[in-house]
Amino acid sequence: MATIKFGPSGLGPVKGAIENLEEYHRLGLEACEVAFTYGAYIKKDDAIEIGKAAKKLGIFLSIHASYYVNLNSKEEEKIEASKKRILKCCEIGHYLGAKRVIFHPGFYSGMESNEALGNIRDGIREMMAKVREEKWDIELCPEVMGKKNVFGSIDEVSKLVEETGCGFCIDFAHVLARYGKYEFDEVLNAFPQKRWHCHFSGIDYGEKGEKNHKRTLPKYWEKVLKFMAGLDKEIVIVCESPSPVEDSLLGKQIFERL
Ligand SMILES: [Zn+2]
Repeated sequence: MATIKFGPSGLGPVKGAIENLEEYHRLGLEACEVAFTYGAYIKKDDAIEIGKAAKKLGIFLSIHASYYVNLNSKEEEKIEASKKRILKCCEIGHYLGAKRVIFHPGFYSGMESNEALGNIRDGIREMMAKVREEKWDIELCPEVMGKKNVFGSIDEVSKLVEETGCGFCIDFAHVLARYGKYEFDEVLNAFPQKRWHCHFSGIDYGEKGEKNHKRTLPKYWEKVLKFMAGLDKEIVIVCESPSPVEDSLLGKQIFERL
């Protein structure tokens, strides 16, 4: 049977961060993804303090990197800026004791999947070398994306993992939006690893894939958790719905009843 840590996307502002972690812990949550989506807003000293509290409370921290990332831009400066932003997350993440930095790998920029894959793979390898050099204890995790015209299919992300040894993030809401179903078998084949980092929420989608995240209804949780329950894996699920704490608790309750 799988072990699953549930927790929200969002730690909140630096000032209330430790109180928020205490609250998550009191509620029974065991994970939290710090949203550096608009920039790494925590400084080194605060990161160390917050990290200590998270460790004491048994909360697994991860980071979501900036949305302004494209490792397959046609403009070299944009690729360099993207790597810089992700590496900043790795640095602060290291001080937070976060183990994973999740990021959106990039766009096709008019290229075929293979060419985009090669460029993004090279970017990841370069960042991994820097992470090793700096001895930051953190894993780079490209995410499975929900829009069909954005790089990050199940297959593409699993190839990045194969070719670089990086981590990964399986967003099951994105999978549903991209493929029209949760594609459990394909995901299982693509990611045989013991540890999974997942995102989940309800989602609206259309022909082009993802439109927006929404509340995670029990029926969505049930489908995904029933699938996960039978797997011999250690899973972290970060809920990205508009009510991530409530929905994480709902997921945890449903999982405990399975
Ligand atoms: Zn994401």
